[in-house]
Amino acid sequence: MSIQRSQAMFERAQAVIPGGVNSPVRACRSVGGDPIFIAQGDGPTITDLDGNRYLDLIGSWGPLILGHGHREILDTIAETMMYGTTFGAPTEVEVRFAEKLRDVVPSMEMVRAVSSGTESTMSALRLARGYTGRAKIIKADGGYHGHADCLLVSAGSGVATLGIPGSAGVPEGAARDTIVVPFNDIAAVEIALAAGDVAALIIEPVCGNMGLVEPAPGYLEGLRALCTKHGTVLIFDEVMTGFRVAYGGAQERYKITPDLTTIGKVVGGGLPAAAFGGRADIMQKLAPLGPVYQAGTLSGNPLAMAAGLKAMEILGRPGTYERLEQLGKRLGDGLLAAAQAAGVPAQLNRVGSMLTLFFCGTPVTDYASAKQADTARFGTFFRKMRERGVFLPPSQFEAMFVSLAHSDEDIDAITTAARAALVD
Ligand SMILES: *Cc1c(COP(=O)(O)O)cnc(C)c1O
Repeated sequence: MSIQRSQAMFERAQAVIPGGVNSPVRACRSVGGDPIFIAQGDGPTITDLDGNRYLDLIGSWGPLILGHGHREILDTIAETMMYGTTFGAPTEVEVRFAEKLRDVVPSMEMVRAVSSGTESTMSALRLARGYTGRAKIIKADGGYHGHADCLLVSAGSGVATLGIPGSAGVPEGAARDTIVVPFNDIAAVEIALAAGDVAALIIEPVCGNMGLVEPAPGYLEGLRALCTKHGTVLIFDEVMTGFRVAYGGAQERYKITPDLTTIGKVVGGGLPAAAFGGRADIMQKLAPLGPVYQAGTLSGNPLAMAAGLKAMEILGRPGTYERLEQLGKRLGDGLLAAAQAAGVPAQLNRVGSMLTLFFCGTPVTDYASAKQADTARFGTFFRKMRERGVFLPPSQFEAMFVSLAHSDEDIDAITTAARAALVD
């Protein structure tokens, strides 16, 4: 398999784009080897500049739950764009997008659209601070909530993978009010809340950014109860899990109601859209109703809203999440069996169509245990899978995403590749 054209393009890219990429994990540094440049996507596959085809388990890091180039999404974008691409004034599709979100995720009584997950978490935190008049926030070790200053403290995947402690350029003041607790440790949250002045606890209800880690039984219930007791705003960051682990996200799957929810990835249907929303009494503190400022030139962009709305509609059809569960299970079981057959110590963590194969011998329940994984082995696995036509997330600490475009045969082809990749 030649990746000559990708390598030449990477050379060009590095001259004008720092590291040659517009988001660091794409550089594939933690797994070794150069990035491939994508020319085209089609259903479950992507094709690179050299014409190599891969079964894709990234799906643009989650958004493409329907696969690449879904016909109905493309048609919707084409129809919508004929009326214009942006106005900076309200449109009907924004209202329909917000209504749809509220219908599927009832805790989102009111919704504001933004353009990225980072914007949604940053805005939700400002809102929580404005609403409570408090300064501190709590986040989980290894949890990733986008790259706002106050959230770039022990922030998992990209940051963990690159080994940047927090990130240069984040002033001490911005990080000082961020308290970091281990995921799945309710006692740590209790202690942090008891110290007082905590505006919000922001959490991925299913962690996807330290690799996939499921909440322990009772953990989310415990967070809900503690936040209620202390008057702290509970924010579920469902940018990854929303419309992924269930139609109504993790809050539907685990039956917990947060105060605010941030959502992105899938809700843009492959275009840049995200949103935050929640209790009406909190959301009404936003400008122009209230004192908390938040804005965006392209917020509620009609193309992104239309694509996202169409994706949400398609996902609401019967059998969708049962099918995603089947596909996820088939892949998880196949990968674990491949590791066992090869005698490689491995843990398979999975919730629905999100999963991670950790190369370690002990269960992964938080970031400390995730870091026990053999990242060198993962790097080798990534490269061998890519040579065999399977595109995995280029980090041990990222989740794989299955889409509805994958067939049983695609999944079996992936696990067959894994069997070969793990022994040679
Ligand atoms: C991807 C992600 C974000 C950031 O979203 P961007 O659109 O990349 O800014 C925030 N939170 C979680 C849980 C995510 O997975």
